[in-house]
Amino acid sequence: MTAARSSYVRTGAALVGAALTAVSGCSTGSDEATARTGDAVRPVRATASPSVSGSLVVSYEKPKKAADRQAEAFLRRTKALEGVASYADAIIRLPYDVPLRAKSCGEANAFWNPETKDITYCYEFVDALRPIYEKQETEGGAGQRAAAVEQDLIGLTNGVLLHELGHGLIAMYDLPATGEEEDAVDQLSALLLAGGDDEHQQYAIDTINAWGGLAEADAAGGVTDDAYADEHSLDIQRFYNWSCWLYGSDPAAYKEIVRSDGNPDGVLPEERAERCPDEYAKIAHAWGTLLGPYLRT
Ligand SMILES: [Zn+2]
Repeated sequence: MTAARSSYVRTGAALVGAALTAVSGCSTGSDEATARTGDAVRPVRATASPSVSGSLVVSYEKPKKAADRQAEAFLRRTKALEGVASYADAIIRLPYDVPLRAKSCGEANAFWNPETKDITYCYEFVDALRPIYEKQETEGGAGQRAAAVEQDLIGLTNGVLLHELGHGLIAMYDLPATGEEEDAVDQLSALLLAGGDDEHQQYAIDTINAWGGLAEADAAGGVTDDAYADEHSLDIQRFYNWSCWLYGSDPAAYKEIVRSDGNPDGVLPEERAERCPDEYAKIAHAWGTLLGPYLRT
């Protein structure tokens, strides 16, 4: 299950969604940020000290097992982590420098640690997702497929780490959030990517496709009760949610995501799609309001 062919957006989209404008658009002076929802631009009173100016600081730990060396080499070569750090840094100020550590974890994971106030990206996570993308990238020769898988992994690295940064922002700035935090930070990640340039919009699609591939694996293996009890939405729900938010960011550009009689290859049911622009606008307004004081001008 894939949201769209990679080439569709890599070559097709030439737009910048409203979201990043909302999130990064604090152009009304040092005390105010703006949050845009629909046509309304609402001033948000800043409460933060303008002196906060931390960033994500990338480091690599030596892999603890040989199997992790490929992931380490991939991350170092592509500078995927440095790319996320500089993208986030251009938009959001952190209260202090936050380490972003690539390391062997003994599990396929990525996480914000509220005690050590850092983000970990496990080499094992890259390895776990690689076969998901290898199943999806079936066009072209071996070299082209390998390059496409690497692009997918870079995209997912962005989607996952901006999610983890969301946890960090909620903790560091004591941001209020209603609803499940896992969904809220998925929304932030989708917002930051969907509202970005073509490259970052493609990263959103790469992330959607990872959830689609993981959902297919879930379907083959059966969804356990523990998965329903988990604080994360199910992989299939995250697939549809991200698809909805990306579509909602620009319905004209992403109409191919919607499944209809005229577009049976679409993935998002029309019943959900019709409300996605509003869903996206609310997400942009909420995160734009919460982060207003911490945005770089
Ligand atoms: Zn999370």
